[in-house]
Amino acid sequence: MSLFGKNALVATINGEVFRCLVCQGGLFGTRTIKLNTGAMEFLDLAWANRTSLGVICDNCGYIHEFLGDVIRMWDPESGAPA
Ligand SMILES: [Zn+2]
Repeated sequence: MSLFGKNALVATINGEVFRCLVCQGGLFGTRTIKLNTGAMEFLDLAWANRTSLGVICDNCGYIHEFLGDVIRMWDPESGAPA
């Protein structure tokens, strides 16, 4: 199964290849996730900026969610940053 087809990307964290926590898949799609909910304001986490990066496993669909820019996405064909 492939959710993102040829648009699937490779992910690295501090230079290490990231794999899906569920199925060990190595290809992902991404989606920006908005965080500025009332709950975040209530918890005084509004500083945590307004979005996180959802890194979605191309194989099983599990969504890994990252805050900040440590995770990098790459085109597996060209090796170029995505
Ligand atoms: Zn997976």
